[in-house]
This record gives sequence, C-alpha cells and structure tokens, in this order.
Amino acid sequence: MTTAHQFAHNFLREKGFKRIPSTFLHKYEGIMPVKNTEFSLEISFYELDFIDFPEYRLLNIPEGLNPHLPHVEPDGSLCYLDKEFIYLDRYNPEDNFVLCFQCVENLLASYAENDTRKFSQDYADEFTAYWQGKFFAYIKSWNYPLQALMFDRYSILDNAKEKTEHEIIIFNNQQEANTWLKLRNAANTAHSNKTIPVIVTKLTQPKLIRLFEKWPLSSRQEFFAWLTAIDPSAAQSFISSLLTVIKNNRSSYVVLQTPGGNVGALIEIDKQIVEALKRSQNQRQNKKGNKPASPSSILLRKSLVKEKFFLINVRDASDSRITTRNQDKEFSLVGKKIALIGCGTVGSFTALLLAQLGAGIQDNTHKGVLALFDPDILMPDNLGRHVLNMSYVGENKALAMADFLTNQAVSNTINFIGNNKRFDVKNLALFSKYELIIDATGNEAFSTSLSHYYHRSETLNVLIHGWVIAAGKAVRAILDDRTGACYRCLRISNQDGELQERFKLFSKDKEPPDPIKRNCGNAYFPYASGASASAAALIQQLAIDYFSGNPSPRFRHSSLSLDVQHTKNCNPQKLDICPCCSKIL
Ligand SMILES: [Zn+2]
Repeated sequence: MTTAHQFAHNFLREKGFKRIPSTFLHKYEGIMPVKNTEFSLEISFYELDFIDFPEYRLLNIPEGLNPHLPHVEPDGSLCYLDKEFIYLDRYNPEDNFVLCFQCVENLLASYAENDTRKFSQDYADEFTAYWQGKFFAYIKSWNYPLQALMFDRYSILDNAKEKTEHEIIIFNNQQEANTWLKLRNAANTAHSNKTIPVIVTKLTQPKLIRLFEKWPLSSRQEFFAWLTAIDPSAAQSFISSLLTVIKNNRSSYVVLQTPGGNVGALIEIDKQIVEALKRSQNQRQNKKGNKPASPSSILLRKSLVKEKFFLINVRDASDSRITTRNQDKEFSLVGKKIALIGCGTVGSFTALLLAQLGAGIQDNTHKGVLALFDPDILMPDNLGRHVLNMSYVGENKALAMADFLTNQAVSNTINFIGNNKRFDVKNLALFSKYELIIDATGNEAFSTSLSHYYHRSETLNVLIHGWVIAAGKAVRAILDDRTGACYRCLRISNQDGELQERFKLFSKDKEPPDPIKRNCGNAYFPYASGASASAAALIQQLAIDYFSGNPSPRFRHSSLSLDVQHTKNCNPQKLDICPCCSKIL
C-alpha cells in the first residue's frame, strides 16, 4: 500500500467507511450523512494517479428523494467532476482525494436540498444521455421538409461484411441520402424501406422529465403526455405538423431540438386515431362551436392495435455543424470562392485544412468553390509528405486531391474542382472570380511571377503565399492585399546583388544545409511532413483572419528549429525598390 493509499484508507475509516474485499480495487462501503439525509455509498479506486477519479456509487436512493437525479449513471455511479476539464495532480494525491470526497458531498447536498432549479438545468444539459434511443439517426440537413430513411449498414471495419446494423439518415433531398448511403457502407440499398416524413420540434427546457416515473418513454400516448407536460407550446407545434403529415402517412419521425442536443422517436399512429384526428380537423373547419374532440385529447387515447414506437438519438451531421463547431464564432468557409495553386506537400495539407472549415461547400445561393490547380503527377516519392495515398499514384495531383476531398466530405453540395492544365501565369483573368487565391507551390520563381502579375492586374482579389523555408526548419506565409509588402518585398539584394532574406532566417554559424541532389534539376530538401502541415496551418489561419475581416499580421513566421532565429509576425511595409510591386515594369 502506498502512502497515498494509506492516507485514503485512514481518511475513509475516520469518515465511517469500511473496507470490503476486492481482488484488484480498493473498495469501501458506508454511509455519508448530508443535510439530514443518509446516502449509502460504495467507493472504489485503484491507482491514485487521477487518470480515473475515485468512483462513488450510490447504492440506493434515500427515501423521500426524487428517483430521477441528475449526474447519476444507471449503475448508481456519480459524475461529480468532469475529467475533460479538471486536472488533478498525481503528485498531490492526499489533497485531491479529499477534494473528490468533498465534491461528492456537495453533489449529495444538492440532492438532499432538492434544488429543483439547479436539477432542471443539469437535467437539461444531460438530457440526451437519459433519452435511451434505440437507434442512431444522423441529420444531414436542416432545410425543410425533411425525410428519414432507415437502412442497414456494415461497419467500415467489417471487411468480411458479417454483421449489419440499423441506421437512420434524415435528409432534405434524395441526393443527400444517396451520398450518405454510399459513404456509410449501406447494405442492399435497392431494398431500403420507404422514406418517412420528419417533424422537428424545438424544446426550450426539458425540465420536468424527472417527475415522470415511467421512463424511458415507450408509446405514442406516453410521448405526447410527456411533451404536453414539459412544454405545452412545443406540443402544440408538434400537433400542427402532425396534422399535415397524417394526411398521407401514419408514421413519422419526430426530432426534438433541446439545449443539450437532439433526440427523437418514431411514432406510428393507429388508423382509427388517424381518422379521429382528421375528423377533428374537418369538424373544426365546418361546424365551429360543436366542440369536437381536440387533437391533443385524441393523441392521449389508447390504441386497440399495436403501434410502432421507438426512441432515437439524433446526431447532427449537417455541414454547418461540422464546419463551425470548432470555431470561436460561427465562422466557416462555406460559400467562399477559393483557388489553391499547388497540390504538392503544402498544397495537399492546405486543401484538407480549408475543406475542414467548409471550403468547397456551397451555401444556399449555390456559391462556394475550392478550385485546385496543379499540372503534376503524384509519384511514390511524394507519399511520405502528401495527404494522398498509393491509390492515387500516377494521377494528376489536383484531380486526385479533388476526388479525395469529395470522398472525405459528407456534404452533397461540395464543389471541389481539380485543374490539371499548366496555366499561363501572365493570364490571371480566370482567377478574378475567386475571393482568395492561395499559392502553395513553394516554388520561388513561380511565386514571384504570380505576385508580379497580381500587381499588374486590376481584377484579382487577395493573394496568400505559404511555404516551407530554411530546409524545413521554418515556415512562412504572407497575405498580399496591396496594402503592404508583397512576396518579393521579403527579399532584398546585398551589395553583391545576391538576394537575401529581409527577415533573417539563420542565426550566425548555422548555415543552411545543401539540398539533396537527385538527378538533374530534381533537387529537394529532406524535411518531414510536419513542416508542410505547419505551413498549411499558417495559410489556414490567414484565410480565417482574412474572411473574418482582419488579416493582420499579414506576414507570419514559425520556427521549427533552434537554428532559425525568432522572427515576429508583422505587417511589413512595401519596399520602394521592390521590382515586383513598386516599379511597374
Ligand atoms: Zn514588393
């Protein structure tokens, strides 16, 4: 027993807990009295390294307390601290063991006080965890009207195709569904069930869920009674959608949007109930004042035949959710028109990072494109630092990258265009339709020429260059919007007329290594793909900042080695002597 375990043992003994036999774990049982309520607990722990926190399990719910308590797992385990957000130091196990104990005391105190308002909020946050859906439904679009299709799929890891599982896709148009079925390895799609309409209802606060003894919900009446009790206006909105749906369908899915996530159910309604609902509508329209049965009361009636009913957990797989959830603000590149020149090592990572932000996804007005340009063929030599894999070797890099992104994307509104033609850098007119042009070629001669013609064109928007430099020991990027330095402004001539870096790279005595020579004209610097990913990261952030309205600082540098001296990100002035942007030759 370690000192920490000895401490924990003594501490729990003092608190009245008794050690019970266990093969691997340290296990204790006892009563924790909190606010005049006695809670029976089992405490267990193994290492006190706090990778896992000590487990506190409620052995029963004390009499007089509500049976539905927040932060309790089905087996009674208490969620008293969130491991994702709290770090407990393994080098201070005694204090942290006591801290855990106190957190449990606080949680139990909230149960004893029956703090309804706090419960409601906690329950709302954890709501989806309590729902206990039987299947997962993925919602691909929030554009109404929505339909749902249940299908069988093989896991992508199930190479032998031995076992299928049910999944539900909720979509707006058939193309979305088709793309989904393909991506999700659907089995036998030709025999898929017919689609079922989807009703979306928003719940502001699913607060009284714990008052219901009957849980999980298991029938149409229970569902409707529960919905009416917790949110009458949501119930009304559900009814009005349902009355439209039942004209043609006895079954529908309902998706409930809650603050803690989305859940839902499949609801089938017996013919007689459907007829009664329809009658209630007609009577309302024809003979006002007769007080026909209201739809709400009809929906609470029992059916004489069995109606299909099951709960679903709904996962938001929409483009907007995927592309914006990791951003501070609701930022995405959906709908932006971006051209990326160069699909080599830096370009391939850049394309991927931009696509993850929504580049190439069209918005509601069908705008949005990520156009990729590269005339080169993917070779086995490239694979060590390229996003693409062996299956694309021998293909054009831009076309292959566009295909790769298309297969990666779950969106059906994607617009990745690959261009394999070598274009004339003098003729940049075709780029005037893009809001942003990104140069990831890493080729100084090309980049200089691109910058040259950019500064002689009236119609081009903004240009970003990003590259790996110093033999892979640093990465740089610059955004050129004609307000400051251009790509060439980062190079200055010394007295002998040799070009040098304006922002020096190497510390003294840290001369750059020579590139490895292959055959004629095929020299390259050996560096790991991490450098390319770092350059792509600089480009991605510049693109975010540009579309967010503040591209400053326009020049960004990141050192990957101590050989390279520190350079601050800045907005460099354009040079009066720059042959590229100052003297229009
Ligand atoms: Zn310049």
